[in-house]
Amino acid sequence: MREDLLRGLAAPKPVWPDGARCVVSVTVHMDGPALEVGRKQVPLGIHSRGRYSIKRGIPRHLDILARHGVPATFFMCGYDAEIAPGLMREVHAAGHEIAAHGYVHEGWDLGDAEPELLERTHNILSDCVGEAPVGWCSPSGRKSALTLPTLRRLGYIYDASEKDDDTPYLATVGDTVSDQMIVLPNNTVSLDDVPAYREGQALAAEVLENWIQELHAIHAGAGYLHLTYHPRSGFGSGIPARAAVVDAFLAEARRLPGVHFCTLKDLARHCLAQPQEWAR
Ligand SMILES: [Zn+2]
Repeated sequence: MREDLLRGLAAPKPVWPDGARCVVSVTVHMDGPALEVGRKQVPLGIHSRGRYSIKRGIPRHLDILARHGVPATFFMCGYDAEIAPGLMREVHAAGHEIAAHGYVHEGWDLGDAEPELLERTHNILSDCVGEAPVGWCSPSGRKSALTLPTLRRLGYIYDASEKDDDTPYLATVGDTVSDQMIVLPNNTVSLDDVPAYREGQALAAEVLENWIQELHAIHAGAGYLHLTYHPRSGFGSGIPARAAVVDAFLAEARRLPGVHFCTLKDLARHCLAQPQEWAR
């Protein structure tokens, strides 16, 4: 698509770290056996796809990210940290961010139990890697009135759950727009592997073409790209041909001028250093 046409579709361009033209944040949703356990499935046989994240998917993607020198944000469930603590520490030691994603990927209403569950996973991840998470993404997109006030009390500075904008904006915590918490929205339509592979039954080559089109459009526009993928087998990008899509996408992003790769944590800190720039 012509760049001048893409610009015409763009949201206003914020100021990005290092004066970059485009920020690219890679987020890896581990979604290990916690996902099946949370659904009361025995994580064996057809329900063993989450374990692929532990055995093959994450090691494979750590190699790819290291080859490109790209820091990523890994959203982890508390249960997965309990059964694979060594892998968590390996991801953290490689320079990636560990962020929170529920205890057993609770994609349902938690009622009054929610604060205790958020705190439980917070403590498990903190104890496992020796650093407290500051970011959260809702499993399956569910949130309640208790979610952000609890996360803020625990010291979180960003929420990556919303799908309602092209660029970050200050979070509303309780009734108040906060200058200490930012929403880093994600696009689960076209920059997430699940809708493409599960609902769309897409081929790996089609996903790569789609992601690269998004990259070029965002690079010419507002400059905020938030990629989400899952290192599982089944609906995710753990297996070799789909991992190669991530590899090729990162190569293309590195080829473009003015691209800055950063974790969501570093992007949140950039935004919150000048909170008035992100008020809506
Ligand atoms: Zn998930």
